[in-house]
Amino acid sequence: MNPAMDDINLIQQAQRHHLVPVVRELGEEIDLEIVAGDDKASFANSTLIVVTPPEPPSSDEHDDGKSLIGSELPNEELDVTKNQPVKRKKKVVKRWREEWADTYKWAYVDVKEGTARIFCSICREFGRKHRRNPYGNEGSRNMQMSALEEHNNSLLHKEAVRLQLASKDKAVVEKPIHVKALMSKTAGSIVEAALKSDPHEVEYIQAVQEIVHALERVIAKNSVYVNMLERLLEPERTIIFRVPWADDRGDTHVNRGFRVQFSQALGPCRGGLRFHPSVNLSICKFLGIEQTFKNALLPYKLGGAAGGSDFDPKGKSDSEVMRFCQSFMNESYRYLGLDKDLPSEEMGVGTREMGYLFGQYRRLAGHFQGSFTGPRIFWSGSSLRTEATGYGLVFFAQLILADMNRELKGLRCVVSGSGKITLHVLEKLIAYGAIPVAVSDSKGYLVDDDGFDYMKISFLREIKSQQRSLRDYSKTYARSKYYDEAKPWSERCDVAFPCATQNEIDQADAVNLVNSGCRLLIEGSNMPCTPEALDVLRKSNVLIAPAMAAGAGGDVAGELELNHEYNLLNWSPEDFESKLQEAMKQIYQRALKAATDFGYQKESPEALGYGAAISAFLTIAKAMTDQGCV
Ligand code: NAP
Repeated sequence: MNPAMDDINLIQQAQRHHLVPVVRELGEEIDLEIVAGDDKASFANSTLIVVTPPEPPSSDEHDDGKSLIGSELPNEELDVTKNQPVKRKKKVVKRWREEWADTYKWAYVDVKEGTARIFCSICREFGRKHRRNPYGNEGSRNMQMSALEEHNNSLLHKEAVRLQLASKDKAVVEKPIHVKALMSKTAGSIVEAALKSDPHEVEYIQAVQEIVHALERVIAKNSVYVNMLERLLEPERTIIFRVPWADDRGDTHVNRGFRVQFSQALGPCRGGLRFHPSVNLSICKFLGIEQTFKNALLPYKLGGAAGGSDFDPKGKSDSEVMRFCQSFMNESYRYLGLDKDLPSEEMGVGTREMGYLFGQYRRLAGHFQGSFTGPRIFWSGSSLRTEATGYGLVFFAQLILADMNRELKGLRCVVSGSGKITLHVLEKLIAYGAIPVAVSDSKGYLVDDDGFDYMKISFLREIKSQQRSLRDYSKTYARSKYYDEAKPWSERCDVAFPCATQNEIDQADAVNLVNSGCRLLIEGSNMPCTPEALDVLRKSNVLIAPAMAAGAGGDVAGELELNHEYNLLNWSPEDFESKLQEAMKQIYQRALKAATDFGYQKESPEALGYGAAISAFLTIAKAMTDQGCV
């Protein structure tokens, strides 16, 4: 569409939403002039340029496509400061404008309760008292702008802005877009409801927002899905429990355990357990909903769950980890089982932890049934359980590239993390002839421009298993470089594989990635990008493969292991790998089909992400419809 027409449409939409002084020309600054006394703690009594609150514009104004820009307003309405003392230095204004450029875009001044205040024109909110305001009143204009900026950084505001920008393609919304319209069954209302019930669950709300964005076209097509999504976003069952344990000196400790069983509409739950100090309910819920969607994309009938504990296995002895795992299982075993829920590996949980967890589960349950995915006891020589997530990510990248008539061979790849997933991604990348050049951990990153080979990977594995620093690698391979407290996203690459943790790529990292030449991003970690980073990547046409689809390899392997066919026939590793490849292909095709069915261009950066969410949601929604109000 013609960009100029886009702008005009946007302004007309805004006028219809009664947001006239708001949107004006997008990006145009409001003319807040600075008068004497602005630095005082309050400007409640000082006069300002007042823009009258928006009135619905006449249809003539619409037709002209004109916006009511402050300077175009009649003089008497516009400038009540004409008898005021001389303006203060322009310099100050300039500085503020630079500092608050973004906030200015959406700001207007109005009088409320006899006081001139600066409002966010999208949400119709004024900057509340700034937390650093020592004066106990609404503060100087400076402070109000700063307070408004805090508001503008809030999720509520961001969602309102996004909805407004998106509204140019949509039907007219009669009310000003404020996510306060709780009862209206819109995408925004779903996010707001989630925000309202659990405002502090930052990661979960972020995941909900991403899912709701992805499903906007589905919801617009059939409003029945709104209600279904609202139900789905409330976990079926949440278990929070105490995990007491004793260390090797006999001192006692207590941690918190979680298991969130999100949905069993499609079948019994499967999902990871994470042991990391940052684990809380928000993280378990975000992992749980992602897992539910991921499992719905699989060629099996599975529900989704996630859980874990704020226990940190780092620096603990084997017997301490064992005592912790046994205590964790003492409470959680009653909710687990083949037909209920089976846990699997996640961050901080590997074969050692899964072995201890299963051992205790078996004792308490009194039977051997319920093969957790992870403990060595269930592996045959051919199972690729530990490798499967990492390998699956590379298979997925290969599928995308094959569709572009490209291949991994010769491409420079940056991989974050240096845990279970990362090391297997490296292995498979080498097998495909790609050149993996960087890995990282929570302390920094390592780049080896010669690329890692199998020898180097086993050295990396040794370093990490001994809990040493990645810096030690550079002592052996002198041409490599280690950077402390830094992330690998500014290293030149064609493909990026974030495989460490959620939100590991922020806006600045995304800009670095684009500048470093990255064209394809394969999500290994769940939700690796902040919403701002996603915006940058999408606008720069970086194709994104969502963890929901690309990271499903481990779950595929888990189900293959439980399969009778697998137990009866002795599959070779090649058999196992080809089954995994076949499953990844099905997942890829399913995501692409759903995207194109809902009008997304196959090549567009969001196609796979939106398609995966749509396909998974429609599968779950069908089961929920058949099962009544569940
Ligand atoms: P892991 O073996 O515990 O390794 C995690 C890696 O991430 C470690 O190298 C760790 O560094 C690094 N890391 C953790 N927090 C970080 C931070 N804030 N900044 C930078 N690096 C950080 O975990 P994993 O099983 O490989 O899982 C990695 C990711 O894949 C997770 O996001 C998980 O959700 C996702 N995932 C895992 C599976 C699975 O089956 N395991 C399946 C699907 C998705 P340190 O060594 O310094 O702690």
